[in-house]
Amino acid sequence: MYNPRSPKAEEFIDHQEILDTLAYADANCGNAALIDAILDKAEQRKGLTHREASVLLACRLEDRNQRLYALAKQIKADFYGDRIVMFAPLYLSNYCVNGCLYCPYHKKNTHIPRKKLTQEEIRQEVIALQDMGHKRLALEAGEDPVNNPLEYILESIQTIYSIHHKNGAIRRVNVNIAATTVENYRRLKEAGIGTYILFQETYHKESYEKLHPTGPKSNYAYHTEAHDRAMEAGIDDVGLGVLFGLELYRYEFAGLLMHAEHLEAVYGVGPHTISVPRICPAEDIDPEEFDNGISEDTFAKLVACIRVAVPYTGMIVSTRESPAVRERLLELGVSQLSGGSRTSVGGYTQPEEETAQFDLSDRRTLDEVVRWLMERGKIPSFCTACYREGRTGDRFMALCKSGQINNCCLPNALMTLKEYLLDYASEETRTVGEALIAAQLSNIPREKTRSILLERLSQIEAGNRDFRF
Ligand code: SF4
Ligand code: SF4
Repeated sequence: MYNPRSPKAEEFIDHQEILDTLAYADANCGNAALIDAILDKAEQRKGLTHREASVLLACRLEDRNQRLYALAKQIKADFYGDRIVMFAPLYLSNYCVNGCLYCPYHKKNTHIPRKKLTQEEIRQEVIALQDMGHKRLALEAGEDPVNNPLEYILESIQTIYSIHHKNGAIRRVNVNIAATTVENYRRLKEAGIGTYILFQETYHKESYEKLHPTGPKSNYAYHTEAHDRAMEAGIDDVGLGVLFGLELYRYEFAGLLMHAEHLEAVYGVGPHTISVPRICPAEDIDPEEFDNGISEDTFAKLVACIRVAVPYTGMIVSTRESPAVRERLLELGVSQLSGGSRTSVGGYTQPEEETAQFDLSDRRTLDEVVRWLMERGKIPSFCTACYREGRTGDRFMALCKSGQINNCCLPNALMTLKEYLLDYASEETRTVGEALIAAQLSNIPREKTRSILLERLSQIEAGNRDFRF
C-alpha cells in the first residue's frame, strides 16, 4: 500500500502506485486543461507531485511541451542563474563483491585489472586534481568489505582533506559508496563528508533483482532505504540517481520523484541532488544489451520535468555525456558538471583506461570545459561555502526556498572563479574569465555585497584565498 511516510521501501516506492501513475499519465497525455493546470502550478515554483510531473513527461501536445521547456529554463535561470558548480570523481578502488550486470567492476569480470589506491597514491591523485583547479570531489569505490572497508574510506577522506598543495585544497568531499549501516553513516558524517550519494539504478524491484543477482547490493529494500539510514545518522544532504536505460524511463521518473517525496515527508528535506546518468559503453558492457535506452530528446524532456518538479534540488550530469548533450541539459536544468574527469582507479596520474567504470564522451580538460562554459555566458563555480558554513539539510533548503541563497551564490562563484583563473587557467581562459567577472559584477543586486566582493577580489589578486559569503 502506497505510503510516502513509511520506512519500508516497497511502501514508499509502491509498484502499483507507479503503474497507476503511468496509466493516469497515459490517459491524460492530451488533456490540455489538466496539463495547463499542472504547468500553472509549476510556475509557482513549489514543485509537483510524481503524478503531476508524470503527466507532463507523457504530454503529447507540442505547444504545452514548449511551455514546459520554457518554464524549466526560467526556473533554472531564477534559482541557479548562470552558475555551474564544478566537480570531479575520484575512484579509490574497483574491487567489488557485487554482481551488477551493467557495471564492469562486477565481481565476475576477470579481464579487468583490480586496483586499490594506497594513501600515497591518493595523495598523488589529489595533487593532480588540485593542480587542475578542483575543490570538490565525489569519491567512488566498489563494495568490498575486505579490500575497501569503511576504515579505508575514512582514512582516504582524512588524507584528501589534509593535502594542501600550492594554493590547492579539496574543500568538499562527497561520497558515493555502497549502502551501509546507520553506525557507518555516522562515522562518514564525523569524517566531514558533504553529500552522501547513492544511485538507485532502477526503482523497478523485479528488474533490480535481475540486474543485481549476487552480492549485498541484491537486497532491494536495504539499498532503497539507505538514504533513510544516512539521514538518521545526521547526514542531511543526500543525493539520488537512476541509471537511465535499465528500465522504462517513465517508471524510473515516477519512482525517483516518489523517493524525493518520501524524504521530504519523513525528514522535512528532499534530496540535495539528483544525478541523471544514462547507461553507456564500458569494458565488458554493451549498452545495446539493455533495451530501454533513451534518446537525446527524451533525455532533455526528463531533465526539464525534473527541474520543474523539484526546483530546489541540484541536478548533476557527468562526462558520460557529450559536450553537445551537456550544453542542451545545462539550459534545461542541470546545475553541476564534472570536468576533466577520469573514471579509472589512478586515472589522474597514470592513465589506465582498461579500469574505467565507463567510457567518457567528454574528454576535454577542466581548462577547456571552464572556457567553453564561460564562452556561453556561464559561470563555472568552485564554491563549497554552504557545507563549510553549516548551511546543509533543512537550513540550506529554507535559504533556497526564500531565494536568500542567491545573495551568496553569485559572489562566491565569482571569487572561486577568480582563484581558479589566477592559479590554474591558461592565458586564453583567464582573459575570457576576467571579462566575465567584470560583466557579472553588475548582477550583484546589493551595493554593500558588491563592495565587499570587489575588496575580496583584490585580496585574491594579492595572493589571499578562500573567502566566502
Ligand atoms: S555498480 Fe557499484 S556495486 Fe555494482 S559492480 Fe559496479 S562498483 Fe560494484
Ligand atoms: S553558496 Fe551554497 S548553494 Fe551557492 S554555490 Fe555555494 S555551496 Fe552552492
